[in-house]
Amino acid sequence: MAQNQASTGLETPGRGLFAEISKNLRACMQCGTCTGSCGSASKMDYTPRQVWRMVQAGMKEEIFKSRTFWLCSSCYYCTLRCPRGLPLTDTMAALKRVATAEGYFSDRKSPVFYKAFLDNVRKYGRVRETEMMTRYFLAVKNPAVPLSFVPLGLKLMAKGKMDVRISGFGGSGKLDRLYRKVMELEAAK
Ligand code: SF4
Ligand code: SF4
Repeated sequence: MAQNQASTGLETPGRGLFAEISKNLRACMQCGTCTGSCGSASKMDYTPRQVWRMVQAGMKEEIFKSRTFWLCSSCYYCTLRCPRGLPLTDTMAALKRVATAEGYFSDRKSPVFYKAFLDNVRKYGRVRETEMMTRYFLAVKNPAVPLSFVPLGLKLMAKGKMDVRISGFGGSGKLDRLYRKVMELEAAK
């Protein structure tokens, strides 16, 4: 698999992380409860249950060619329901980190979106959708992307579900220390 060298600003050493992911999934008994619980599974190219098996089989190339982990919305439902108590949501997040650290993505839209999301949470402790999407559109540098969101945006505005006011791009960065600590811990792995 060709690695994408375009920077996403999310790079971390990622050393040993894939091996740790595999170790964490050792107790999976392939019952499929995670897949049955996942609201995004129907859009994924491999289901969560399949991905755990692929991790155990060391199928790194196939996993990182897929979009499964990018489509995980971190709802934690699979983690709550797994009879083995495995850290499944954290594992999906770890796969995102490995992909960005090692440049394993064919389309930079997903890592750029992921970075816009995390940056927004880091600044505000929650997502401010309008600012996050504006930053995503600017970073992705492809006018077709914002245009593709116009129908959804109009629907949300019509239902009063989207606040189009942008009250200053700033944020207090209250989670900076937490993020820095996590990055240090990841780098030490
Ligand atoms: S719910 Fe847990 S044990 Fe069952 S397939 Fe998913 S990860 Fe494996
Ligand atoms: S945390 Fe991700 S993989 Fe698990 S159920 Fe939610 S969307 Fe699916």
